[in-house]
Amino acid sequence: MNTSDTTPDASDTSAAILPGEHLHALRSALHGPVILPGDPEWDDARRAWQLLVDQYPVAVVVPADVDDVVATVLAARKHGLRVAPQSTGHAAGTIDSLADTILLRTSALDSVEIRPATASARVGAGVSLGTVADAAAQHGLAVVAGMAPSVGAVGFALGGGLGWLARSHGLAANSILALEAVDAHGRVLRIDETHHADLFWAARGGVAPVIVTAIEIRLFPVTEVSAGALMWPLERAADVAHAWREWIDGIPESVTSLARVLRYPAIPEIPEFLRGRSVVAVEAAVQADAATADALLAPLRALAPEIDTIHPMSPAELGAVHGDPPQPAPARGEAILLSEISAASVDAFMDAALAPSSAPLLSIELRHLGGALRAGSGTGGAVSTIDGEGLVFAVGIVPVPEAHEPVRAAALEVVHRLRPHAAPRLVRNFAERPVAASDLYDEPTLARLRDIAAAWDPDRVIHVGHPLG
Ligand SMILES: Cc1cc2nc3c(=O)[nH]c(=O)nc-3n(C[C@H](O)[C@H](O)[C@H](O)COP(=O)(O)OP(=O)(O)OC[C@H]3O[C@@H](n4cnc5c(N)ncnc54)[C@H](O)[C@@H]3O)c2cc1C
Repeated sequence: MNTSDTTPDASDTSAAILPGEHLHALRSALHGPVILPGDPEWDDARRAWQLLVDQYPVAVVVPADVDDVVATVLAARKHGLRVAPQSTGHAAGTIDSLADTILLRTSALDSVEIRPATASARVGAGVSLGTVADAAAQHGLAVVAGMAPSVGAVGFALGGGLGWLARSHGLAANSILALEAVDAHGRVLRIDETHHADLFWAARGGVAPVIVTAIEIRLFPVTEVSAGALMWPLERAADVAHAWREWIDGIPESVTSLARVLRYPAIPEIPEFLRGRSVVAVEAAVQADAATADALLAPLRALAPEIDTIHPMSPAELGAVHGDPPQPAPARGEAILLSEISAASVDAFMDAALAPSSAPLLSIELRHLGGALRAGSGTGGAVSTIDGEGLVFAVGIVPVPEAHEPVRAAALEVVHRLRPHAAPRLVRNFAERPVAASDLYDEPTLARLRDIAAAWDPDRVIHVGHPLG
């Protein structure tokens, strides 16, 4: 597993120059804007959600439609440049240098069409998960979303994607029915089981060298959910974590939960009752009527939580449960996948979470996987299951540059302490900086992904996160 740490090369400021006359031609060919260094909109246009990454591409294009994507790819090819599709920039830390790359921000590809008759949706590449969840809920349907509604629906699903429905409905990549995309030669493609099946396989959890302009995804008739958090003072941490471990043993797949240590800073953005406090929490989403959910949650409530926010809600409200910031944030996180959630691995998790070295971290969480994420449950994409029962994510906010090193060191220390319990691979969406492709894919999968990339994009025009190397 690659544990080396690098400053993302996306910050490389030595960008190539798109010659003036060609730029003029591209600008006049597009319906959407082309933004260049020096333009008043430049800093806003290149800013990623992940504020720790300072992106310096050759230019930023905001395509208004598919034709703009085609024109951008053709212009990039002509001038020996690359094109990086980016929606929100949540994963901006996973792309390498943009010095020879046009950054293609998909925010204007923002259409959402819910198709109740087929329980599916067509979602533009610039749409966030929260927007899809809201639209689907109006039809009594739910999307397999992550825990943060601000994340882009396309980037999330392509990368695998797991959230509050993970144990019942599996990875979001398995919900992809079709992709509309532009390839490295500027061809407009429909990609599904019967059209370009190699790309359809690669795109679902792997890497397909195309720019997706829209996806069609399956929705699910989830209507009754109880979700929220139970919180105890930090002194109860070990006791609560082990009770949670016993509770998840045999819990139905309709329940997805996590245990978490939170150290809230004393800042106005944090609700007053939590400001400056440290707590242990169990967050859970139970797909059941309220009475059944209460019965399932009773063993945890018997531990007398100080705070209990679990209540019946619409699936569209699940995005608020985890409390991720709604605005771009400078955060540094590290993840490790655990083979199993055992007494020993929970002890190690708690030792790491409570160690003085973890003081700079805001949150250290352990998500319960399994269920529909287990091997044998997938639908045939490059990565359709997760071979591990627990996912640990340790993260801290970096409000000032001096805080980066302590947060980085603390997050890496958590990973280091848990390594004896690690599964062989990482979970791609939770690898926030470049990692070796062999940490994400087994050998046959990686070989096939590389073959597909070489066949469709031999000149490496399409520049995506977590390159195959
Ligand atoms: C606060 C936060 C919470 C998160 N919570 C979860 C969670 O609960 N579950 C989970 O699974 N993940 C989670 N993630 C990880 C997130 O799913 C990934 O970072 C995902 O890649 C983000 O997609 P995006 O489009 O928003 O980001 P971007 O940075 O815009 O895109 C990420 C990558 O997706 C690909 N991509 C995006 N758009 C296109 C396109 N149009 N065509 C081709 N490729 C494209 C590219 O490789 C791109 O580099 C979280 C991340 C953050 C920062």
